[in-house]
Amino acid sequence: MTKLENIALNDQQFDLQHIWHPYTSMLKPLPTFKVKKAYGALIELEDGRTLIDGMSSWWCAIHGYNHPELNQAAIDQLQNMSHIMFGGLTHQPAIDLARLLIEITPPSLDKIFYADSGSVAVEVALKMAVQYWTSQGNSKKTNFVTPRSGYHGDTWNAMSVCDPVTGMHQIFGSSLPNRIFVPAPQTTFAEDWDPADIVELENELSRNHSMIAALILEPIVQGAGGMRFYHPEYLRQAKLLCEKYQILLIFDEIATGFGRTGKLFAWEHAGVEPDIMCIGKGLTGGYMTLSATLTSKHVAETISLGEAGVFMHGPTFMANPLACAVALKSTQLLLSQDWQSNIQRIEGQLNQYLPQLSQLDYVKDVRVLGAIGVVELTFNVDMQSLQQKFIDQGIWIRPFGKLVYVMPPYIISKQELELLLQALVKVVKEMQEI
Ligand SMILES: *Cc1c(COP(=O)(O)O)cnc(C)c1O
Repeated sequence: MTKLENIALNDQQFDLQHIWHPYTSMLKPLPTFKVKKAYGALIELEDGRTLIDGMSSWWCAIHGYNHPELNQAAIDQLQNMSHIMFGGLTHQPAIDLARLLIEITPPSLDKIFYADSGSVAVEVALKMAVQYWTSQGNSKKTNFVTPRSGYHGDTWNAMSVCDPVTGMHQIFGSSLPNRIFVPAPQTTFAEDWDPADIVELENELSRNHSMIAALILEPIVQGAGGMRFYHPEYLRQAKLLCEKYQILLIFDEIATGFGRTGKLFAWEHAGVEPDIMCIGKGLTGGYMTLSATLTSKHVAETISLGEAGVFMHGPTFMANPLACAVALKSTQLLLSQDWQSNIQRIEGQLNQYLPQLSQLDYVKDVRVLGAIGVVELTFNVDMQSLQQKFIDQGIWIRPFGKLVYVMPPYIISKQELELLLQALVKVVKEMQEI
């Protein structure tokens, strides 16, 4: 007996009919491609084709796939334990990783909370901010302000601070808390700073600061909400406003961390320290899910002085030893190399190939920062046909909306990146406006 109507489905049909993929219709699912294995910057499909990876599995696989040292770190940790509860117990991987992460994140942040995914790290950050105020007897500061075009994850409160349009807030209606949105920063990374960019934030804060716990944003690069690169001065001004109006500042560095933008973390572009910072994605080199929320002694102690006396969060898989061990090795691996020059090499190649596309009348903008290259079109792409064209060219790029973008693993060779970008350029040039 089986509850499946059709047991004759092959794997591909079964996958499409029964397994949800990210943001996918169950009525008209787009095709998926079955991966047999991945190594270095290459993804090998079941049918034998090999693709050059342009996505790092959504910012994560910074050292590429199947890395011998990361594999070994996982194997070594498995011999001891894969998991152990973190309530009342601790372990070497959590301690060693914390020592390292505290060393490389903003100087004022020295308390770390491990969580299981980026979205949860954001939930934790938002909860910390609210508890910071309630602990001081202020129960009014419970809302959040955030720039539009942001992305902070898919769980409830993380979603509430995502861009209301690209995050499709109307689908969830009144079930979603109402946040305060200000215009996205408009001055791009390299332009001259336009002070008009910060005016709306100042207006909002002066009006509503008594009900705002924190400002949350992605420093320098707004990722999934539009792949926008903005001016560091925005962060400096935002920090001043947060101090003036007594608002905590949360940096979501889940996408920008671990070298992607050319700095180890994006706050360094502005030299502005947040009160709370979230990291994830590249943390384990893409091996498994792990995130962390860091905060200052002041915030942590204020929370602990409150009525509850504790921070109210504790996931089952908190500080999973296997994930911590691989994250430690991945971060050590990154720091042991001349990663800055490597990111510059990738940035140089992105700048060599992508800007020619801005001549096409259906290309609105081409931008590059660190190991991120973005081609913004004037129309929404047909994901299915474009995906197929990239695969036919032997490259893995997953466009969304108007954006065709790449963020390759840092270990991608000069020649692999050349092939990836040549193929990308070819496909975009051959696109017809729809
Ligand atoms: C991906 C992402 C998240 C969510 O992380 P998950 O691990 O997918 O939950 C949050 N913030 C930013 C900036 C991200 O890029």
